[in-house]
Amino acid sequence: MSEPEECVALVTGAGQGIGRGIAMQLARDGYTVVVNDVVADPQDTASGAYEVKRTIEQAGGRAVVFKADISSPRDREAMVEYVAGEFARLDLLVNNAGVAPKERMDILEATEESYDRVMSINLKGPYFLTQRAARRMVQWQEDGTVGTPRIVFISSISAYTSSPSRGEYCVSKAGVSMAVKLYADRLAEYGIPVLEVRPGIILTPMTSVVKGKYDKLIAEGLLPLKRWGRPEDVARVVSAIGRGDLDYSTGQAIEVGGGFGIRRL
Ligand code: NAP
Repeated sequence: MSEPEECVALVTGAGQGIGRGIAMQLARDGYTVVVNDVVADPQDTASGAYEVKRTIEQAGGRAVVFKADISSPRDREAMVEYVAGEFARLDLLVNNAGVAPKERMDILEATEESYDRVMSINLKGPYFLTQRAARRMVQWQEDGTVGTPRIVFISSISAYTSSPSRGEYCVSKAGVSMAVKLYADRLAEYGIPVLEVRPGIILTPMTSVVKGKYDKLIAEGLLPLKRWGRPEDVARVVSAIGRGDLDYSTGQAIEVGGGFGIRRL
């Protein structure tokens, strides 16, 4: 890693939840953090992306906000061009933004509209944001601006766990998992590691609507570690990837799930 004060990280969907936790951690690690979110109101510093920026700055870190919808090609281009124009480097891209279906519907009833929405935000957005950012990273790596750029995708245990009431979410996360392998393979010749971080059940605004259900499942033993995951649990893994501790594990998935993935008898 270059001198920490020079490094720049872009975290998508960083106005709350896991993305917020990752942005805070990376700011503590010394990155200037580009805090992306689809909604970002400069007048609102009590919540959302500007709250994250304010909190980072109050702790002595550096952050900027970039409002962009990662499902929009124009917004993706504008965001990467902003980073290029403002910083002329990107050391770490964290593809975190993602959505659940607006309504959980059985796979026999669920709509194409919901499928298209979830796939375009959860899979197509990060897939093509990474394509655009990676082209720049290769340039910056080749001209010596950035020693080792790195890319992280936040997927989910849903990449391999069936939930027929939100099939489109599971399919999108399985696709993210393959996107990691594809980019890790393609970018290996440039020495750019690409890793998947697979959260389990993490307490965030996304899961607050199903908190009662998961409280019960966790109490009944769903997880070997009997607690909800926290955004900081995920952020610590991203921090280790940013430090370069997992560079030789390119293409692999790290689960942050309290042991969810262990087969038990
Ligand atoms: P969250 O609390 O809903 O936060 C997601 C953030 O992404 C929100 O700030 C949201 O903004 C933003 N966002 C949504 N659509 C966007 C778009 N088109 N462009 C840019 N930003 C967008 O969710 P979370 O729980 O932190 O989840 C973060 C990531 O972890 C997601 O990819 C999710 O699938 C994954 N994950 C979460 C869990 C979990 O248990 N929480 C488990 C496994 C994986 P708005 O709120 O304004 O829409």
